[in-house]
Amino acid sequence: MERLLNISESKQIPERYQGTPIFKLFEYHNLGKEHDVFTNPQMLIGSCMDFRLSFNIPRNFSYMIRTGGANMANMEFKISFAISVGDIKHIAIIGHSDCAMTKLSLNETKFVRGLVKHAKWTKKLAIKHFNNKSLEFGIKDEIDFTLKEVSRLRKLYPGIDIVPLIYKIEDCKLALINE
Ligand SMILES: [Zn+2]
Repeated sequence: MERLLNISESKQIPERYQGTPIFKLFEYHNLGKEHDVFTNPQMLIGSCMDFRLSFNIPRNFSYMIRTGGANMANMEFKISFAISVGDIKHIAIIGHSDCAMTKLSLNETKFVRGLVKHAKWTKKLAIKHFNNKSLEFGIKDEIDFTLKEVSRLRKLYPGIDIVPLIYKIEDCKLALINE
């Protein structure tokens, strides 16, 4: 089975998402549907902080949490806020292809040098920071990690519809991860 379900027509969106904000997310972002007007948030998007990710969604449509690798660790209070106060029932966790969090070790030298140069850190502290945190925040595979986060969050929020997606850097489209 293909790991990703590409969506370039609305009929490719699985029927179970009909009438949900997940369906709308695909329509806006992938299919260029005209933006509707919203006054209340419809969903929460948790995605990577990567600068290449840009979402074509209407104003007021979605809460957004962006962190390296779409890692939602320590984001639970914010997620709970969106669910309770924002009244949202749908969450998309969106990993992406070519995520820098899968190859942190390649950036170690630049990471240390950059902190020393730009942030005026000592080299020792920068190395320690990298070594301490790169294991915690590094991921092996974008799809596997997104599925793992979704599975963790589904256990935490059993009443909420939580869907794993991938943002493809190649064509800037969203794809569903086949589960
Ligand atoms: Zn990333």
